Amino acid sequence: MLVLGIETTCDETAAAIVRLTPEGAGEILSNEVMSQIAEHAAYGGVVPEIAARAHLDVLDRLVERALERAHVSLNDLDGIAAAAGPGLIGGVMVGLTFGKALALAARKPFIAVNHLEAHALTARLTDHIAFPYLLLLVSGGHTQLIAVRGVGDYLRLGSTVDDAIGEAFDKVAKMLGLPYPGGPQVEKMAEDGNPTRFDLPRPMLGRAKPDFSLSGLKTAIRIEAERIAPLTKADVADLCASFQAAIVDTIIDRSRAGLRLFREQVGASNAMVVAGGVAANGAIRRSLMRFCGETGLRLVLPPPALCTDNGAMIAWAGVERLNLGLVDDMTFAARPRWPLDANAEAVHHGKA
Ligand code: ATP
Ligand code: MG
Ligand code: FE
Repeated sequence: MLVLGIETTCDETAAAIVRLTPEGAGEILSNEVMSQIAEHAAYGGVVPEIAARAHLDVLDRLVERALERAHVSLNDLDGIAAAAGPGLIGGVMVGLTFGKALALAARKPFIAVNHLEAHALTARLTDHIAFPYLLLLVSGGHTQLIAVRGVGDYLRLGSTVDDAIGEAFDKVAKMLGLPYPGGPQVEKMAEDGNPTRFDLPRPMLGRAKPDFSLSGLKTAIRIEAERIAPLTKADVADLCASFQAAIVDTIIDRSRAGLRLFREQVGASNAMVVAGGVAANGAIRRSLMRFCGETGLRLVLPPPALCTDNGAMIAWAGVERLNLGLVDDMTFAARPRWPLDANAEAVHHGKA
């Protein structure tokens, strides 16, 4: 089975071809990504209108390249999948409309993919993980702990009540004068910093429900930065290191609460899977390795290129759904908001 996947929900335009082998494994034949970081850098964040236009500019060439690199023609495909949300509506409409038109012209089944479901299922593409498993999704737009019980079957255990962790990294970076996107910059500065210099809050620590809250931590950084201003490079490094240490403590404590709830409500977990751009952070990766070692959980950390937004994850979610006979028609509309649990309901009603 061969599926083309299209991703345009945020600031990455991506197209990929993924194959399902007869043994049931996934194989990435091509995975083309074009980042718009340069277009948005001057504004310190993603500008929706610029994003939508940039997707439109490059998507046709990118899809062509994905087909070429995979040595596949449109005719060889068994389905065409496009992310239909959640995300910035203009960009989503570009990819969704393009995918539908291509499916219509090539007379192929069309699959509307939930971007979050694609992040959630990536571990089955890279590591062949069986359901159920605990998912930690940490990206620029989402911070959630989810029990993945099956395709279209998700139980949200907890989520952030304010900012996403990636968003907090980006906002802290901006505050400290570091360029966008802030996550990798904060990580790099933190390497030379003292993580204990500032006594920062760890909101939600110890709570039974595995929710997150980041805005208090972000405010604490602002207050410290204003107190010691003007900032030297060493100050910025110490602030970054202290911030990152607080994030690590929060992630581990919340994951522990999430695992407890998972075991109560779902049973034994086959693995802990991490997805989203923040999973590229080395300090977070190392602390999750320790946590999973202690709790006897298998840890699945897809390579960073498959943790951030990409086309292979959309193609793979398309494979998983097509394999179950879950296809969509041309009336499927773009969904700026589309929580995973609502997705599960739709499947149960037979109209995902
Ligand atoms: P979503 O998937 O929720 O719609 P998104 O597309 O913005 O959001 P991703 O592309 O998965 O999310 O990830 C981008 C986020 O990851 C940014 O907030 C970025 O700062 C953060 N990030 C990337 N690398 C690192 C890193 N090394 N450390 C911390 N954060 C990072
Ligand atoms: Mg992104
Ligand atoms: Fe994403």
